[in-house]
Amino acid sequence: MPELPEVETIKNELVPHVVGRRISGVTLSWEGILKEPNAQEFDSRIAGQEVTGIGRRGKYLIFSLGSGELLIVHLKMSGSLLLGWDSSSPPRFTRAVIHLDNGRHIFFRDPRKFGRMRLLKDSTSIIGRLGPEPLEAGFTPELLARLLSKRKAPIKAVLIDQNFIAGLGNMYADEALFAAGIHPLRPAASLTRREAWRLHRAIKQVLSSAIGDKGASVTTYFRPGGEPGKAQFQFRVAHRRGENCPVCGTSLERITIRGRGSYFCPRCQPEP
Ligand SMILES: [Zn+2]
Repeated sequence: MPELPEVETIKNELVPHVVGRRISGVTLSWEGILKEPNAQEFDSRIAGQEVTGIGRRGKYLIFSLGSGELLIVHLKMSGSLLLGWDSSSPPRFTRAVIHLDNGRHIFFRDPRKFGRMRLLKDSTSIIGRLGPEPLEAGFTPELLARLLSKRKAPIKAVLIDQNFIAGLGNMYADEALFAAGIHPLRPAASLTRREAWRLHRAIKQVLSSAIGDKGASVTTYFRPGGEPGKAQFQFRVAHRRGENCPVCGTSLERITIRGRGSYFCPRCQPEP
């Protein structure tokens, strides 16, 4: 699933090709990908609009349009946005095509059909409740420690709650907990001040490093030009059950926490 580093990479790589262009129209090959408004209204409102900017909040991509409206895209489990010139042969599993005025297209490819887009005048209903952005200056160790102290749930579940911190998902939460030496089942409020500071540094470090590697291509993530990311090669625990811990050599384990597979080292991340 695309997390903050993947969505940030997609944003960065779309900007030079898309900002300043007009959307000449959108073709929906599967209408379910459009959450609101209905297809007819969407088409009439979006056609002819200039894309004035592309931003990211958490895992949401936000296209600002000339009218002041916003096209908000969530890639969910398996979505990607691919740039291409030939709309007569779209990539397999393309659910929507955004046509640009220079003959280029953005293909919204989504094998599992969980991805969604919305055209809205105001983004508050979608992104208003999201937690802090972990790479912004406002996300301080003190803030993280304070937020953690209010939550009794397992730290892993808390970290992937988008209303707690925006943009962290399963892979990078596992990596950050490993880097900080914290077992994923520890109640969030049980972390010491020192552990919270370590976790804060680990979160920023794993996300920044993954952005540098253009995201992780574990399953279906591709950059807009079609290339895979390389961040998965830096993973030390995520998706590595049965392999040996790169620090202590112990066999890595996987447990399920709130339905999500969680990878960790039982020795470097001692049980609560
Ligand atoms: Zn270890």
